[in-house]
Amino acid sequence: MGYRAMQLACYCGQAPERILEVGFTSDRHMVVHFWCAACNRVLFISRSLDECGLACPPPDAEAQTQSAADDARFLQSLGIAVAE
Ligand SMILES: [Zn+2]
Repeated sequence: MGYRAMQLACYCGQAPERILEVGFTSDRHMVVHFWCAACNRVLFISRSLDECGLACPPPDAEAQTQSAADDARFLQSLGIAVAE
């Protein structure tokens, strides 16, 4: 499974030293609440479900191949031929 860290930065360009809170809104947005120590500012970053999807790394090709092979073995065990 691939993993990509969410890039957080203040308006001043500094990455936050710590995240205060991660939450969700009633309109299905993820919100990250963090503190910028460089300029003493509290910041909120909001992401919609679609934006979260776009931020995800592409599916792991090796995992997909393995999964397809597992599926083929399972189907063959049921007597169903799988085209290669
Ligand atoms: Zn800042």
